[in-house]
Amino acid sequence: KILQGRPGRRDGRLLVAAMTTASVSPPASRLLFLPWLILFAMLGATWFVWDHERQNARKELHTQFDFALRDTVSRIEQRVAAYEQLLRGVQGLFATTGLRNRQAIHDYVETLRGDPNLSGMQVIGVIERVPSASKAAHVRAIRRLGPADYSIHPQGERETYAPVIQRESYSGRHQAPLGLDTWANPVRRQAMETARDSGLAAITGKVQLAIDNGVEGNPGFIMYLPVFAQGQPRDSVTQRRDSLIGWVYASFHMRDFMASLYGRQAEGLAFAIYDGAVPSDAALMYRNREAAGGALSANEYMVVASHTWTLTLVTQEEFENRFGRDISLIIAVAGVSLSLSMALLAWSMISGRARALLLAAKITEELRHMAQHDSLTGLPNRALFSDRVQNKLAHARRHDRRFALIFLDLDKFKPINDKHGHSVGDLLLRQVARRLQDLVRASDTVGRLGGDEFVLLIGELTGAADALALAEKIRQEVRRPYTINGHQLTISCSLGVAIYPDDGTDEFALTKRADEAMYRAKDSGRDSVQLA
Ligand code: GH3
Ligand code: MG
Repeated sequence: KILQGRPGRRDGRLLVAAMTTASVSPPASRLLFLPWLILFAMLGATWFVWDHERQNARKELHTQFDFALRDTVSRIEQRVAAYEQLLRGVQGLFATTGLRNRQAIHDYVETLRGDPNLSGMQVIGVIERVPSASKAAHVRAIRRLGPADYSIHPQGERETYAPVIQRESYSGRHQAPLGLDTWANPVRRQAMETARDSGLAAITGKVQLAIDNGVEGNPGFIMYLPVFAQGQPRDSVTQRRDSLIGWVYASFHMRDFMASLYGRQAEGLAFAIYDGAVPSDAALMYRNREAAGGALSANEYMVVASHTWTLTLVTQEEFENRFGRDISLIIAVAGVSLSLSMALLAWSMISGRARALLLAAKITEELRHMAQHDSLTGLPNRALFSDRVQNKLAHARRHDRRFALIFLDLDKFKPINDKHGHSVGDLLLRQVARRLQDLVRASDTVGRLGGDEFVLLIGELTGAADALALAEKIRQEVRRPYTINGHQLTISCSLGVAIYPDDGTDEFALTKRADEAMYRAKDSGRDSVQLA
């Protein structure tokens, strides 16, 4: 019955060592800042994307708006250029035929009918320049061509006349009588003068077309191209004025003109065209809809056939929704919820790890306790007791102290087992263990080596007498009767006492001497104490 060489001790230590490493990893609670980090990092990223998207949406709206503005201007300019081209064709006719060759112009205009690029045009007509001296001859000549009641109107004597002598309708509308002196109308005259002096196409400001016969509310404009006499120089303004014989013109209703520009009206944009550079009500030529003040608006000036128009463009809700579509709200909602779920996920993973580590630590602690204690009595087992002896030895050597090692073995324990059963024996062992612990100080150690064998490590002794007195006290305490399952039991014990350094200076020697002393107590009739 000696401590050394028993397999349990080493195994116990190995187990303890293995379990200790588990608790070395960092406490998971320290990682709990991670979900916050993830949350803030992801919210930051969300904000970045959100802001970026908002700026993109705004940029896209601007781009689309600028495009719509340029597109509208260029459509108008191109369309006006197409009409100018058409009039040049009519102008060219006069190189081969006279101004009064109605059939030639009629046929030419007929061939153009149905050209979608020319839709929006109301009338193509011819105007002759008539100085007052030639007025009577002019009227006679036209009356020969018809109508027979042709006259220049408004009536009155003027220095120069510019009557309409032919009119080809594109719209099939009611024909106003020929002979209207366009020179008498200041707005028309201005454009005609510009065309004459420049030799190029010129358009009037806002006018009411003759074919409307005085019905207002449908503004229009007229484009003029000058016609010069064949074979005469026309390089300077003076030469052009001298060789001018008339004009060809095309008239337009602004509404039809604009409708011909767009298959479908520019969606979601309110635009208006004004005559001149000031967008006033009086100058309004066209408006596609009432503008309900939009996010973006612009005024654009354009020069069409020597005349200035102002285009105003205002975005409407449909346009803003289509191009400035702000998905930033979706991004914000999705981003915030994703951030929260990621942080939650991280939190649950980490705290799950924390819980797992806590459990592992608890199990480790339990295993460590199990490895070092006797399961029946809860007393330190052989391994732990051996540690305590080593510690005590080191301490006593350093400080020159005494301590005692007391071996205790119950007397005739086996018959109690046999008589009352193993479980009663167990309960008895536990009560003995309790009494032993109660007898010693907290700094002393009571261990169970196995079976009915206990061992006590007693410090702070003045000499062998102290140890002997304690052993005697223990012997008497163990002898007191026990009550187990209603049975009264008594038992005695034999004790052997070894003193450091008197009986030995290492664990082996002291253990051996105490064990031997205990056996001597047995041999001497049991229920007694023996000093080594
Ligand atoms: P002795 O006076 O010579 O010590 O006689 P003894 O009957 O006490 O004999 P010994 O100490 O050699 O044997 C101890 C007995 O204790 C052997 C075994 O049956 C019993 N025993 C050992 N461990 C346990 C235990 O954990 N529980 C119980 N109930 N009995 C045990
Ligand atoms: Mg015994």
